[in-house]
Amino acid sequence: MHELTRRPVLQLAGLTRTYRQGNRTVQVLAGASADLYAGEAVALVGPSGAGKSTLLHIAGLLETPDSGRVIVDGRDCSAMSDEERTRIRRTTMGFVYQFHQLLPEFSAIENVVIPQMIRGCSRRQAEARGRELLAAVGLGHRLDHRPAELSGGEQQRTAICRALANSPKILLADEPTGNLDPATAEQVFSELIELVVRTGVAALIATHNMELAARMHRVLRLEGGVLVEVAPGTVG
Ligand code: ADP
Repeated sequence: MHELTRRPVLQLAGLTRTYRQGNRTVQVLAGASADLYAGEAVALVGPSGAGKSTLLHIAGLLETPDSGRVIVDGRDCSAMSDEERTRIRRTTMGFVYQFHQLLPEFSAIENVVIPQMIRGCSRRQAEARGRELLAAVGLGHRLDHRPAELSGGEQQRTAICRALANSPKILLADEPTGNLDPATAEQVFSELIELVVRTGVAALIATHNMELAARMHRVLRLEGGVLVEVAPGTVG
């Protein structure tokens, strides 16, 4: 698509958020803005407590900002009802957390198939997509293993595939490799970036690992409650 007509998939516009902690207020977001485009992996960095999780929760329509707007695929979600926000979240977003949260009684492929079947996909189609996604992250030979039979890296790969199962437009990840050893984290990150490019999802990935952040297409740093674009080459 022509650069000039390219529209962001996710727009965060002037987000503010204040929390009360005892008798003081903490302004976590003070006008955070960013545009995310299809097929790009964007790192969200900043020290612990900077507001990364808060920003991801607001972007994921799980929390509302005090002011500012979240625009998903051109639709302003600010004034939507809870039902509408839930529908937008379910149909356009995938989430990955630090801990995989896979269903322990189900195999890797079932964990990727179930969300698709809940959305009305046939088992055949869901399995085909599940196999394709898991094979793309090198888990073609682990389809029938339950989470407890997978390594930490394999569990997170499966969680990433599950998040992408319903072809979301937006992927939000909060420290997805925070629980992995450095070598595994790096490998899972590479695969995640490849999947972002391959599936065309727009990904916002919080990490405090600057070396991993530097590998992504863009880096946004939360500083004093606003988002600052940093050249990936200058972090790490
Ligand atoms: P990060 O993910 O960058 O570590 P968070 O978004 O988790 O940062 O937290 C940012 C700040 O907001 C912290 O000071 C945290 O204590 C505060 N905070 C987050 N959620 C709440 C809440 N529900 N109530 C009060 N304070 C909160």
